[in-house]
Amino acid sequence: MINCKAPNSGITITPWGDIRPCCAYDGSLGNINDIDDISEHFRSGEQYKALRGHMATKDIQDYKPCASCVDGKQEMKAYENFSPEVELEYLEVTASNICNQSCIMCSPMFSTTLGTVLGNKTFNRLTAKQILDILKNIPNLKAIQLKGGEPFADMKNAIILERIAKVNPDCKVTIQTNTRAITPAWYPILSRLNNLSLGVSIDATGELYEWIRGTDFDTTHNTLQDVRDMLPNAKLNCTVTTSVFNFWEHEAIYDQVSDHVDSFDLSNVLRTPEHLSILMLDQVTLTKRILELATFAKATDKCTGIESFYNSFTLDNPDYEKLRAHINQFNKIRKVNYESPVSSFKY
Ligand code: SF4
Repeated sequence: MINCKAPNSGITITPWGDIRPCCAYDGSLGNINDIDDISEHFRSGEQYKALRGHMATKDIQDYKPCASCVDGKQEMKAYENFSPEVELEYLEVTASNICNQSCIMCSPMFSTTLGTVLGNKTFNRLTAKQILDILKNIPNLKAIQLKGGEPFADMKNAIILERIAKVNPDCKVTIQTNTRAITPAWYPILSRLNNLSLGVSIDATGELYEWIRGTDFDTTHNTLQDVRDMLPNAKLNCTVTTSVFNFWEHEAIYDQVSDHVDSFDLSNVLRTPEHLSILMLDQVTLTKRILELATFAKATDKCTGIESFYNSFTLDNPDYEKLRAHINQFNKIRKVNYESPVSSFKY
């Protein structure tokens, strides 16, 4: 039996409209475009009922869609405070893939700007009717997470936040953001939320930040300081997505942001696409740097998530050609000549 409350508590809507119990679940419980009422689908839809049936009878080791929880159990833990009854208490919503950055490790599925830059723009967004369906469920939620795209680049998220502030201001609200679109117009809404956490995505500083994300570092840094000043009660968590490009940057990022954030999260280690991951490095380089990072994490009072690095092993056949092609493509796009800081990084 799988002791997880997510199927009794949550709906996650992916950027392409698939419905899941949580973001770690590798499968689909239907698509929002085929559903009239999400709470009805959650309570009595056949896919949710079947999942609950699996959970009641299977061991997690034997249940493939939940494989990521077999290793980390991180997701499952996130649901510990939810009721064991069937109650829709958690929503994770991606209103659209509208984004103001073009990160090298992202995909047009998650960023309209990256799609434009790569000549492959796709546009995914929830309809007005789907947003109304979400608004209906807000009064009973314990927690909601808004993702993107960049949530602050899409005004549909203002409608959702306005509703939370009005009918359920104590709901835990988590928003994953790069901060750049948090203009002063957002503060009146955000300051009415009593339990707000912002996951701030910063993966480098200076020119490397600009190469990775396609926008300048200073504006992001200044906006982060404004957010800290304007929202003193919000929890700010810097989340670093570690790829092969910024594996040596964590200390420099920490120096720049630690005064403005409450925590510094190292847990998001990029695994796919493999050719952009730290698994491209040789094992000696990889291990040496992970040990350095562990020492750094221990010496600070804000770092979390270092364990995510510990199962990192060099790929059997690292595809250096693919990595080189990716770097060359973005050097042309950014009009700079990025060079690896590591001699053993043979691209
Ligand atoms: S992936 Fe993990 S959190 Fe999600 S439903 Fe499965 S066991 Fe629960």
